[in-house]
Amino acid sequence: MNTGSKPDISREKSAELYEKAKNYFPGGVNSPVRAFKSVYGTPLFIQKGDGCFVWDADGNQFIDFCGSWGPLILGHNNAKVREKVTEVMQSGMSFGAPTALENELAELIIKNNKFVEKIRFTSSGTEAVMSAIRLARGYTGKDKIIKFEGCYHGHTDSLLVKAGSGLVTFGETSSAGVPKSFAQETIVIPLNDTEAIKAAFEQFKGEVAAVIIEGIPANNGLLMQDPEYIKSLEQICKENNALLIFDEVITGFRIGFEGAAAYYGVKPDIVTYGKIIGGGLPVGMYGASAEIMGHISPDGGVYQAGTLSGNPVAMAAGIAQLTELLRSGFYKELNNKATEFAESIQRFATARNYKLKVFHVGSIFWMAFTDKDKIQSAEDIDPASMEKFKLMHRELLNRGIYLGPSGYEVGFVSAAHTKIELEKAKRAIFDSLDVVFRNK
Ligand SMILES: *Cc1c(COP(=O)(O)O)cnc(C)c1O
Repeated sequence: MNTGSKPDISREKSAELYEKAKNYFPGGVNSPVRAFKSVYGTPLFIQKGDGCFVWDADGNQFIDFCGSWGPLILGHNNAKVREKVTEVMQSGMSFGAPTALENELAELIIKNNKFVEKIRFTSSGTEAVMSAIRLARGYTGKDKIIKFEGCYHGHTDSLLVKAGSGLVTFGETSSAGVPKSFAQETIVIPLNDTEAIKAAFEQFKGEVAAVIIEGIPANNGLLMQDPEYIKSLEQICKENNALLIFDEVITGFRIGFEGAAAYYGVKPDIVTYGKIIGGGLPVGMYGASAEIMGHISPDGGVYQAGTLSGNPVAMAAGIAQLTELLRSGFYKELNNKATEFAESIQRFATARNYKLKVFHVGSIFWMAFTDKDKIQSAEDIDPASMEKFKLMHRELLNRGIYLGPSGYEVGFVSAAHTKIELEKAKRAIFDSLDVVFRNK
């Protein structure tokens, strides 16, 4: 039986730490969404994580569905990852010279991924995307980039751009500090809209270096695209001598080892990875055919570098994590577990006539407060629905469930979530939904 709204958990220690942090960091954080601006209360300061659990500074325990925003597909503090990292660390932490560990992680990826022949490691997803864009421009000799409203690609200048008015427009900067002239090189169009991309290529004939899309857009809700649409992007890029860039920083190694490209059966020209690839340490990567990658320095004229790129400790974490993912049946088991979880929440909501849709793919899920059967573009999301998320988020924290602190963020099921914890989480979600929909 639902017991109604729960009293708030203690956040005394977190609140204290947050007050202190505000003296040191803008908004008290080192990445904005962590500041809990879209949900109730002060941010929780996390003290430790193990398996599918995290504990905050006040000792509250949560079943975690944020997973450091995606990297922790094996859960927190995985023994294999921890042991490998600890072992490698004994020999020093950075050399700025090549190590065998880079070869080892590269081999694990390239041997098991038909979409990349050569790769370059970076230290974040943002860097990987920024470099992929430069590569596309250097390779094609063209400047303009087409991006989609509702896709996030990190905080690189030319992609901090939102749609202007009209179907096909230059973007408008979505951050202060991005020169207008940069935004002029980025064309922003809606997702899942064949006419818009045709019009963009028509209007900027011969000027487009690349189309960049998230393999499966998962940074602004989970915006599942029609497979035919994704395939049509491959075609239209070919026709226009533009490169197709799949930003698989979330979807890479998540919905399968080869990410969204394999899921759709589409061959992107350049792929970017991040998050999971580093096993919880800072790693990004971009890759392409040997021919395209031949344009990267020192072989080619496109400059890109990094003091800590290919860092041995980060490589070690990636090697340990990806080795686990390659075990036979890994994705099948994880994805089945996550599907069952998402579908049972949907069944509960449907049975009670709650306006909630649980969109999911692989082990990614997104709870949307809507009655639409499909949400495929940014404008399909009703901002007012976020009020319900906010209520749910508080109820869930009070019941020991941690979701990312924004209704636009997806959740992740990890291999460390056992049936028992998923059942507990479901009960907590059901009870929270009862509270949310009774409060309307
Ligand atoms: C997280 C993310 C990025 C940025 O990666 P960082 O490591 O945060 O710089 C880029 N693209 C996508 C699709 C992402 O999800």
